Amino acid sequence: MIYFDHASTTSPHPEVVRVYTKLLNASFANADSLHAPGRKVKQQMERSREKIAQMLHVKNDEIFFTSCASESNSLAIVGFALANQNRGKHILTSNVEHSSTKHAFDFLESVGFEIERLPIHEDGTIWPEDIQTHLKENTILVSIMHVNNEIGSINDIERFASIVHEHPFCQIHSDCVQSFGKVDVPFEKLDMATISAHKIHGLKGSALLVKKENVRLKPIVFGGQQEQGLRGGTENAPANIALAKTIRLALEEQEEAYYTAKEINSFLRKEVEFLGGHILSPANALPYILNISFDAITSEVLQNALDQKGICVSGKSTCDSKSKAESEVVLALGKSHKEAKHAIRLSFGKDNTMQEAKEFIQAIEEILKNYGLSI
Ligand code: PLP
Repeated sequence: MIYFDHASTTSPHPEVVRVYTKLLNASFANADSLHAPGRKVKQQMERSREKIAQMLHVKNDEIFFTSCASESNSLAIVGFALANQNRGKHILTSNVEHSSTKHAFDFLESVGFEIERLPIHEDGTIWPEDIQTHLKENTILVSIMHVNNEIGSINDIERFASIVHEHPFCQIHSDCVQSFGKVDVPFEKLDMATISAHKIHGLKGSALLVKKENVRLKPIVFGGQQEQGLRGGTENAPANIALAKTIRLALEEQEEAYYTAKEINSFLRKEVEFLGGHILSPANALPYILNISFDAITSEVLQNALDQKGICVSGKSTCDSKSKAESEVVLALGKSHKEAKHAIRLSFGKDNTMQEAKEFIQAIEEILKNYGLSI
């Protein structure tokens, strides 16, 4: 099997699986229980929180464990809007956010918030000056992703943060799911940031929200005192404890993995163009994500043909994979409807090799031939 679908999810690191499996039995107690096993689990979880905070250069009480990035995004956006609506109801975002962000904003709009979705430019990003010109007196939040999950374009969120912070009370959230562990994330500059464990060789059902002390949120999952009262429900302690290891390994392997992805990406860009395909990802996108299309073959047909050869890729965001619609992100880039309908996303991970990239190209050649196309 060739797995080029790492933006969708990754295989858990063996070391993470080993630790987690052990914890499932050894640390099953409820972290909020007052007895000794409960206190021990609490201690392990707080040590994990502390290590994560150190690695992300934030304070311990600024790390909030959640079940997935979709939950973190929902809490950051809806929880923030509900807690801060007395200061204003205008929020800025982009027109290519992940569905969890997009739907959180659709909900806020339905209850009276003014959501402005800035269009991306041809390079797939929002420009800092766009933020500058669209901030209004009543803007309370800017929420824009760091790296786009379909095309890999990278927003300059550090610059966005400095513009937002010139505003008297506006704050900034960024969905850093596709950037964390791949490029440096400026957590110190952001008011809130989302990351997910399963995108960095961690566990599914494990994620976090970084929320600075000066950010007010209201809970959206009601319950007890867990996570400073912002997220009710018995904590998934084994996963939360294993998250520190997941993050440490991802950061240790970041540099080497980046160069592997870059090498594979550059090779594929050349070869795909040589075969008459189109490169839809911008030139300076994150090398881990490469969006391509071929005129003569739709996304669905190409994905199936690759699947039959044991090659895993996506059409667009996996959270939207069941909808037949064209990729909205590719359309937002200014590409044609055909390109948006024919787009496939390749996304690489630390264990991919150049040999796999060569086999992928060979497979594409065969598929194009089988479909009666000259190459
Ligand atoms: N944000 C981005 C940019 C993503 O790519 C994804 C997953 O595809 C998510 C959020 C949601 O992640 P999770 O599966 O942890 O909810």
